[in-house]
Amino acid sequence: MSKKVLSTAQGAPVGDNQNSQTAGRYGPVLMQDVHLLEKLAHFNRERIPERVVHAKGAGAFGYLEITEDLSDLTKALPFSKAGERTPCLLRFSTVGGESGSGDAERDPRGFALKFYTPEGNWDIVGNNTPVFFIRDPLKFPDFIHTQKRHPATHCKDATMMWDFWSHSPESVHQVTILFSDRGTPKSYRHMNGYGSHTFAMVNAEGNRVWVKFHFKTKAGIENFTAEEATAMVGNDPDHATRDLFDTIKDGGTAEWEVQIQVMTEDEASTYRFDPFDVTKVWPHSDYPCRTIGKLVLDRNPKNYFAEIEQAAFAPSNMIPGIEPSPDKMLQGRLFAYADAHRYRLGANFAQITVNCPYMAREAANHQRDGAMYDGAAEDAPNYEPNSFDNVHEAPEHNPTPLAVSGSTGTQARDYAQDDFSQAGDLYRLMSPEEQDRLISNLAGSFDGVENEGIKARAVCNFFRADREYGTRLAEAIGVDLSAYNG
Ligand code: NDP
Repeated sequence: MSKKVLSTAQGAPVGDNQNSQTAGRYGPVLMQDVHLLEKLAHFNRERIPERVVHAKGAGAFGYLEITEDLSDLTKALPFSKAGERTPCLLRFSTVGGESGSGDAERDPRGFALKFYTPEGNWDIVGNNTPVFFIRDPLKFPDFIHTQKRHPATHCKDATMMWDFWSHSPESVHQVTILFSDRGTPKSYRHMNGYGSHTFAMVNAEGNRVWVKFHFKTKAGIENFTAEEATAMVGNDPDHATRDLFDTIKDGGTAEWEVQIQVMTEDEASTYRFDPFDVTKVWPHSDYPCRTIGKLVLDRNPKNYFAEIEQAAFAPSNMIPGIEPSPDKMLQGRLFAYADAHRYRLGANFAQITVNCPYMAREAANHQRDGAMYDGAAEDAPNYEPNSFDNVHEAPEHNPTPLAVSGSTGTQARDYAQDDFSQAGDLYRLMSPEEQDRLISNLAGSFDGVENEGIKARAVCNFFRADREYGTRLAEAIGVDLSAYNG
């Protein structure tokens, strides 16, 4: 390796990096030591705001390979022909913990994908669960407040969590997954990913279908028990981060089978429940999963901060052939994610190398300036329409029209209002041992909840999912259900 002269950020050579300049051997440090000042000042600014959610994470690069031509469903280039490979980045994370928290904590896991396509970057910002706690983005800040720290004690607070969940019965399905074995995956490689929301695929003729994405781990689902997870948080809080990095460093890969469920617009309009409700799955018996390819991770980041901490995933990153659905949570996230990155990374976050649409055409728009602007547009006009730059609109890429009806207003869209059936279905498909662990995990999470009203309200929600489920939880946490059994 060729030798380099140590330099300041301005490129000036540095003579001594061990001894700061002083007035005499034992005297005070001098202001004129600009190398020292620059070094201390830069160190103070090394951290950027951590993500409010999904702060602790790990990621790797790889590709999506499609095994069949899906052009009948979508004009999106990654699905245009069998064998098509699209480079991607996948970031895994926990949700509620800070960036130094334990990988093995009981929490959903983020499963955020960025595909670098010739038509721009496409992100699926999913989780390892097919559903979510709430269906309306208006509730998201409240929900996350209950997962973070109490405003006075600055501790995690079981009362806040259960107060919110018990008042939000639509959370019972996701809470059941969270406290099942799948709430503590053994590693990021041993869990599934789900796009969770319903998305639209649109083909070259402008026909739309609704789709859900599933990523099934080829390593097989493996989970920690609650005791194993607690021990791992203490022994190695970074175990899943290390596992992913070491697997790839040693020449291995992490792989998932990619599957979709497809629903036509006609089917959606008459389906027995709201197919755009993210608290519900589409039952496999109604909409079987169709395998369409594989996802492979085979390259580690060279620099964690640059490529993973600064990676900016947003469901609003879509490409021709992929469009949003009316799922209210998705609609809220279309704003919230890009906005979080503008706050964390600045208005020009798309210019950071990992976020650049490097497979696509050169970005051509009239957005300019702002912090860390790279100046790539040079002297091109910064307004449109103009007579000079020949940048033109592409009407063929306008969003596919969606017929709507009704009146504006604050209105629930879940006309069936069934918050419980699918949580019950999940409880009933678990083995007796899985059910035992679920009840034990749930009961343990009520430690510190003194409010009897919160406990009773929570138990009622589980009872409505499955009589046995609620009864067992009531017994485990000492709630007298006789008043409700009538
Ligand atoms: P199925 O019997 O066809 O599907 C059950 C699915 O549940 C399995 O394929 C598996 O999903 C998942 N599963 C199995 N064991 C567990 C567990 N211990 N914890 C969490 N998930 C588990 O029935 P349905 O499609 O009617 O779904 C029944 C219930 O299964 C749903 O209410 C939902 O809670 C859950 N589920 C359904 C999914 C779907 O997309 N339909 C996806 C995941 C869970 P996988 O193959 O994805 O691992």
